[in-house]
Parts: sequence; C-alpha cells; structure tokens
Amino acid sequence: MALIECVELTHVYLKGTPMETEALRGITLSIDEGEFVGIIGPTGSGKSTLIQHFDALLRPTSGTVRVGGVDIGDPKTNLRAIRRQVGLVFQYPEHQLFEETIFEDVAFGPRNLGLPEDEVRQRVEDALRAVRVDPEKFGRRSPFSISGGEMRRVAIAGVLAMAPQVLVLDEPAAGLDPQGKVEILNRIRDLHRSRHITVILITHSMDEAAQLVRRLIVLNQGQVAMDGPVREVFARGEELTAMGLGVPAITELLQRLRRRGIPVRADAVTPDEAPRAIKEALAWS
Ligand code: ADP
Repeated sequence: MALIECVELTHVYLKGTPMETEALRGITLSIDEGEFVGIIGPTGSGKSTLIQHFDALLRPTSGTVRVGGVDIGDPKTNLRAIRRQVGLVFQYPEHQLFEETIFEDVAFGPRNLGLPEDEVRQRVEDALRAVRVDPEKFGRRSPFSISGGEMRRVAIAGVLAMAPQVLVLDEPAAGLDPQGKVEILNRIRDLHRSRHITVILITHSMDEAAQLVRRLIVLNQGQVAMDGPVREVFARGEELTAMGLGVPAITELLQRLRRRGIPVRADAVTPDEAPRAIKEALAWS
C-alpha cells in the first residue's frame, strides 16, 4: 500500500513577492510501506522542501500529498496524527538537544503525547538501544558530554521514541568522521531490516546511496528527473553528471574502463561487486 503519495505536487515559497521561488514543480511519486528510498539531487533541487511535505510541516501550493491515505492539504486533517506517523530527522539534529540528561531528551516527545511514565521509560530505553546507546550507562549523562556521532544517535532516538512508521532523514551522516558515519548508517539499516520501518533518506553521497537504499529518486530543478532501482539510476551516469551529480566511485571506475574499450559490466554499484565484473571481463577478453 502507498504510505506516501504525491500527485502533481507544487510548492511555491514567498508567492506573490519578488522572491517567489517555485521549489517543487509537479512532483508525482509514491512510496510503499517497508521501502528504503534515497533522494538525491543538486543543492536547491527541492529535496528538503519535498520531505517537509511528508510530515505536513509544509503544505502543497497545488497538487496533493497523502500520508497513510490521508490528504495533508485537507483543513480537517489531524496534523499531529500525521507527525506521529512520520518521524523527520533534520540535518544536524543534535543541535536540537537541550535537556539536562540524555534520558530526558529522548523522553520529551513521548511525554508530550501524554503517555504514562512507565511507557515513556520503556520507549526511551528501547529507542536508545535501537541506536546502540546503553540507557543504563548514558541515560543520566548530559547529551553534551558525549561524542558528535553519539549525540546524533541520541537525537535520532528522540524521533524513534515517538514510534513512527516512517523515518525521514536529511543527510544523517553529514559532518561525522568516517567511523561515526558507518555507525549511524548501520543503525539506520538495522531499523529498516529488523523493525521494518520505512526509511526515506536524503544523501549527497552516491556511495552511501549505493550501499544502503534500493530505490533512488533524483530531483532536479524541482522535478523528478529519475526514479527507479539504484542500479538503473547509476547506469545513467552522463545524465547525472550533467546535473552536477556523480555515480559511486566503483561505478565510475568501471564506466571508465568501458570507455577505454574493456568489456566490463558497468552496472556494479558497490565495491564488493567490482571483482566479479572485472573477472568476467578478463575471462571474456
Ligand atoms: P535542496 O534541499 O535540494 O537543497 P531546498 O528544498 O532547500 O533544496 O530548496 C529548493 C528551492 O527553494 C531553492 O531555490 C531554495 O532557495 C528555495 N527555498 C528553500 N527554502 C526556502 C524558504 N524557507 N524560503 C524561500 N525559499 C526557499
């Protein structure tokens, strides 16, 4: 079933002013329950604007967005219910940590829902464990006493504690050191695999996209330029380059070999697929 559906979605900022910007222009797409989708596109292509419609922080200027079948543009729609269903993790979410302890920070959302204290505790512990932060060891510590990567995981736990059906993340690994990046991306992968949460993730890294997601939506100038399986999208390297994007490092290497006349398959997108592609080419030549 479609969990999120956009039909001819258009969004115009500052309409009727000299600064008017048409950030989204006729976006039609559908994301099903259980999918793991990446959104890529050059800066200013509309990625952040699009995901803010998924939890009704923004409303369409025209067109329709339905979340779980409910039209977010309908004035009768309960937006709080939509926001409970869709957990949005902004860029650098750790900047929004503010409580004295990690426990209190993660508890903030569930408390706002008016849940009983034992359920709040259960949700906080569960959410912290899901991002591999030990609630016993860290719960009473200040969120400002831990590493940047841990802070980000705590911030994500705060969103998970609301028990969303869909997790939408804007550049979750940005600015972290390589180890912090791997850790956070592995946790997101686990959430999708073991908790069956639908994940939608904006990324600038083609390698990250190749290793994580199954489907890629490419935005360009407010429109959907491509939407399909990762391998099919990265096979269109020249179009991506024309948009100022790239392909994963390994795809780039294989595509270069091909251009030099080496008959290698150029559809490998992750490093572990490359040896096979090269072996096949060697056997063939
Ligand atoms: P991306 O996330 O792909 O970088 P955005 O959705 O942030 O793209 O921006 C799309 C377009 O909308 C850009 O031209 C940007 O300048 C404009 N824009 C984004 N947010 C606002 C805003 N709050 N007010 C006015 N214009 C905005």
